Amino acid sequence: MHERDRIYVRGEWVASEGEGRFEVIDAATEEVLGHVPAGAPPDAERAVEAAAAAFPLWAATSVEDRASYLRRIGEALAERRNEIGDLVSREVGMPQKLARPIQGGMPAETFLYYARLIEELPLEEEHGTSLVVKEPVGVVAAITPWNYPLHQIAGKVAPALAAGCTVVLKPSEVAPLSAFVLADVIDGLGLPPGVFNLVSGDGPTVGEALVTHPKVDMVSFTGSTRAGRRVSALAAETIKRVTVELGGKSASVVLDDAELPKAVKASVNDCYLNGGQTCSAWTRLLVPKALEEEAARLAKEAAERFTVGDPSEPKTRLGPMVSATQRDRVRAYIRQGLEEGAELVTGGPDAPEGLGKGFFVKPTVFAKVRPEMTIAREEIFGPVLCILGYEDEEDAIRLANDSPYGLAGAVWSGDDARAERVARRIRAGQVDVNGGAFNPRAPFGGYKQSGNGREFGPWGLEEYFEIKSIQR
Ligand code: NAD
Repeated sequence: MHERDRIYVRGEWVASEGEGRFEVIDAATEEVLGHVPAGAPPDAERAVEAAAAAFPLWAATSVEDRASYLRRIGEALAERRNEIGDLVSREVGMPQKLARPIQGGMPAETFLYYARLIEELPLEEEHGTSLVVKEPVGVVAAITPWNYPLHQIAGKVAPALAAGCTVVLKPSEVAPLSAFVLADVIDGLGLPPGVFNLVSGDGPTVGEALVTHPKVDMVSFTGSTRAGRRVSALAAETIKRVTVELGGKSASVVLDDAELPKAVKASVNDCYLNGGQTCSAWTRLLVPKALEEEAARLAKEAAERFTVGDPSEPKTRLGPMVSATQRDRVRAYIRQGLEEGAELVTGGPDAPEGLGKGFFVKPTVFAKVRPEMTIAREEIFGPVLCILGYEDEEDAIRLANDSPYGLAGAVWSGDDARAERVARRIRAGQVDVNGGAFNPRAPFGGYKQSGNGREFGPWGLEEYFEIKSIQR
């Protein structure tokens, strides 16, 4: 059991003022995996005061000192990458063999990367008669979701600390355990008190207390568009800087000269990563109308190769959803797809056979999906691929952009230049061309209602700076 009964404030593990606690559930067994405190607004208050008090000193530390702390955090996380991966696998349902490198390994890399970057990045430049200097923005509230819990935390905490900001982290109450491992690591390294604080709790109580606090200078939020809208509105009262990384409904556009089997297989794999609980997942597969049937056949073949089961089994490719709520939501969307007349190619709303426990959903593919259907428009956050047919290239681009979201996407073509031309016309923050490899240093973030701001790479560090010009 992972029992956590304290929050981390001003360099100490202290009791929360909140009365209750949150159960953390193992997604595959439905058993209780542990507990964390259900924090309360006074916890947020204490943590913000601690971060505000620590800010002047931390902002004044040398870049080398900050880099050294980050490097040591990265090294300590790297040593625990399998433990973290396994923990998140149990919370979220991602198969262990993927969770170890992705959920466990990537956060360590992010800390190590920002340790290097802050030492290399020029923090001042001459511009005419001005000296332009980058200074840390101040106290940062980092609010994160459950699907890649420590990865998203690292994408905020590492650049914020590197820039010289102090942080109050509120992780998701659904998958909070890896955040506590990070706090253990930070505590063990003796980071100056108040530089990093952790308060567990839910959005409406601890989250909103942070977002409205006058001493919080910036909110970095990742989560649903619904909560992001509320966070942005609340933070506007005190004119905070706000970055929001939100939902998606990304399109994989297969052009008529593409290698169809390769494109379809890669799109199914991308759509089902982490059980489809991935904000940038390619959940809409756009193919020329004439190839729709063939694409559906190929997608069915690929989807049915996803062995559903216990995430700790090496043969498992699709684990459970994170929670009963999430499982029910995904199944309701599948039912709605059927009601609205989409063609079910494989999967469906029923429980997968032979799995009595766990929040499982069948790997599902719909064909003949029309753009106005709910399943084509809303983020499902489960293993559900929608195939839509298009007339010609212009129609494909129009359909790809026919979404309130704009987070990611893909383009497939036998002609790289053509694929790139189309990629440039997709209004989304990250577009892969012909299976381009994942780049953890690429900027990540959304157009339209997928968010504001960018994380990762040098762009993810720039978000944490104020810019001052000194005229001489
Ligand atoms: P969520 O919006 O329910 O919660 C995210 C975080 O916000 C949690 O810590 C939650 O406690 C907090 N929160 C909720 N309401 C709040 C409020 N009123 N004020 C302050 N904080 C509040 O999202 P989730 O279910 O944890 O995660 C899934 C969603 O996150 C999906 O929509 C997914 O697309 C999105 N997501 C986006 C990205 C991205 O980078 N664009 C990455 C991962 C997940």
